[in-house]
Amino acid sequence: MFTSGADMRPNNNPEKIVMANCLVTGGAGFIGSHLTELLLQRGHHVTVLDNLSTGRAVNLDAVQDHERLTIRSGSITDPVLLSEVVHGADNIYHLAAAVGVKLVADDPVRTIQTNIFPTEQLLRLAASSGVRKFFLASTSEVYGKHPGNAWLEDDDLHLGPTCRPRWAYGCSKAIDEFLALAFHQKYGLGVTVGRFFNVVGPRQVGNYGMVVPRFVDAALRGGPVTVYDDGSQIRCFGHVQEVVDCIYALVDSDDAAGRVFNIGSDQAVSILELAQKVIEMVNPEVEIQFIPYGEAYGDDFEDVQRRVPNTDRLAETIGRRPSMPLDRILEDIIAARRAAMPSS
Ligand code: UDP
Repeated sequence: MFTSGADMRPNNNPEKIVMANCLVTGGAGFIGSHLTELLLQRGHHVTVLDNLSTGRAVNLDAVQDHERLTIRSGSITDPVLLSEVVHGADNIYHLAAAVGVKLVADDPVRTIQTNIFPTEQLLRLAASSGVRKFFLASTSEVYGKHPGNAWLEDDDLHLGPTCRPRWAYGCSKAIDEFLALAFHQKYGLGVTVGRFFNVVGPRQVGNYGMVVPRFVDAALRGGPVTVYDDGSQIRCFGHVQEVVDCIYALVDSDDAAGRVFNIGSDQAVSILELAQKVIEMVNPEVEIQFIPYGEAYGDDFEDVQRRVPNTDRLAETIGRRPSMPLDRILEDIIAARRAAMPSS
């Protein structure tokens, strides 16, 4: 149940097996809700803070009555609420942010206000209140238009110009990374930064631009599937279950503090191949429609042509990396979308 009342503190009953008190900002979101479930499964207490702007209460349906879960409905931009939820936290997973290329391109001011000031406040609260681990969810967008084949965490960033609003997202998260690493250096806060690369899976919605749920939903509706530009853009899609497993392992690791990690799959696929695969799996009759970027996002838009991570650092640190084949990922997503569709 979502509440905004002050009575929803974590369960402090000493009879219970208490591991860590975890705060998950954005815990009702797509990735946050999967992470919340995993933390509960592993025996932790979890406080979720979410304003349900892009997160959805339904994402936490399976655990909403869990005795070790507290859900606070509110914004990370509310400083009083933020200091309330940080109180007593051992580990913070900061996932709340303005997400999605479409949303970000539509409202860069909101992106910057949501992504920078609350992170700074959260870090300050964490450093002054005994928080042990702080996971910052960042994004492959910080690499911008990196021309390389497989991107490494210490590579230079190639952000586009400020007249193109898309880069507000990557730039705001890069500032978050600078802030987080500075808090590690200056105050010894156990910060780990995870850069997500096109995370997909059940519960992701296509409203904010995400390509996989958009393709799957369009194919299930009978098409057409809309590919922007010529579909030669390259991406790697990682299953959310593997991604939250990596987040958990990184926070658990003694070697991850003060470091940045790429988190995602490194199996490259073009957007056109993705569209063809989805169509083949859902309904071979569906057609592909190509539209220019301008029609999808406006004239200021600029895409990233190729985005592939090098995930060796992740694998060396936690002993694994996301590796589920795309077909299996798509099967899982298609099954979840089919199950959620009203039966006719
Ligand atoms: N895309 C597409 N059709 C859609 C949505 C996205 O062709 O309906 C393309 C988009 O231009 C990009 C890729 O799919 O090249 C991935 O888009 P998404 O927004 O999922 O993530 P991004 O990698 O751009 O952050």
